[in-house]
Amino acid sequence: MNELPVVIAPDAVPALLDYLHSHSIARTNLVADGNTWRVLGERAAQALAASGIDVKPILLAGDEVTPDEQTVVELLLGAGREQRPYIAVGSGTITDVTRFASYCTGNDFISLPTAPSVDAYTSTGSSLVVRGLKQTIYAHAPVAVFADLDTLCAAPRPMIAAGFGDVVAKYTSVADWKLAALLWDGPYDEAVAQRMAAARDRCMAQIDAVGAAEADGIRNLIDALIEAGLCMLAFGGSQPAGQSEHYISHYLEMKLVREGRKPVLHGAKTGMATVIVARYYQQMREMSRDEVARRLAASPRPDRAAEIERIRFAYGDLTDAVIAEQAAFLDWSDADYDRLKRRVLDRWPEVQAVAAEVPSPPALTDLLERAGGTADYRALGLGDEEMAVAEEYGHYVRNRFTAMKLSRVLGLLD
Ligand SMILES: [Zn+2]
Repeated sequence: MNELPVVIAPDAVPALLDYLHSHSIARTNLVADGNTWRVLGERAAQALAASGIDVKPILLAGDEVTPDEQTVVELLLGAGREQRPYIAVGSGTITDVTRFASYCTGNDFISLPTAPSVDAYTSTGSSLVVRGLKQTIYAHAPVAVFADLDTLCAAPRPMIAAGFGDVVAKYTSVADWKLAALLWDGPYDEAVAQRMAAARDRCMAQIDAVGAAEADGIRNLIDALIEAGLCMLAFGGSQPAGQSEHYISHYLEMKLVREGRKPVLHGAKTGMATVIVARYYQQMREMSRDEVARRLAASPRPDRAAEIERIRFAYGDLTDAVIAEQAAFLDWSDADYDRLKRRVLDRWPEVQAVAAEVPSPPALTDLLERAGGTADYRALGLGDEEMAVAEEYGHYVRNRFTAMKLSRVLGLLD
């Protein structure tokens, strides 16, 4: 399906050297921040230099980099005009800004993850914050990934727990993807869905080794995260790996950026938000077809002007961008809405079968906690009010049909 070489090894630097030499790559940029330079970048740069490769380190300022315009420009200033493949030494943020800068300058990039914290390593999209709006901007996938297991096992525990949270998110993302295919004619690929679910389940089977940061657990964790990226690549969209739970997380992330607050790890937010979405799936599992019929009969088509007011309330300055994203849902006619409702009712057994694939909220909470994470948003520094808004309005972030959109139609979400 794809030829992208992925090496997961206790010491992955020799495999990186082999790759560079076998591809006749004699010069590289190596992007890191203070932290990732200390844990892996310096060792990799020294090994490259010792084997005759001209390596140009680009050290981004500080230990916590924000994926925004400023960082991209900082990186480009460091790189200069010379053409060199990039090596991204870091977790999600450094990988995303390197992905974008290498893409824009026509260079390949190689990923050296420093933490099993996120599934973005092998994706094509750069998750960047531009003018305060979190966006996934098309760039490219790395040409190879070298995951150094020693570094990954030594990663800070919250980052490991966050990566696990991003794998837990694959319960609701895969379910939402199936729901969209069932009710909205969304594009779908059963083989990719199965591949994503299998990688997720292999990781879940190693949960205690993940919680203890043991090599077997971390190997399965980084494998699931890399697989998620490869699934997105194979499908050509983020559907396999990020849906409602990610939109709740994106909403919160944009709010944190806008308010200049301390960031919360992506996977910590998506894992926590998975438990929220699972509550809606649980309600669907428990809902009889008669009750669905009653609820649908009482469900009016959302009024465009009222919807725009809701978006304005939750998104403020970003309202225009969100309205553009939501066109498919803002512009539907009564006939469109009736057709959707009829389909929900006709296909309710299939909807419930999809809902049955999502573990219960307590089961998901237990998974997160065993891996060292939490389902408690307060422990992540988030407040009751903003959490309620994220739960209710997060689905406006993207134009996909998800469990939260269906919950809206069923009157579970107002
Ligand atoms: Zn994610």
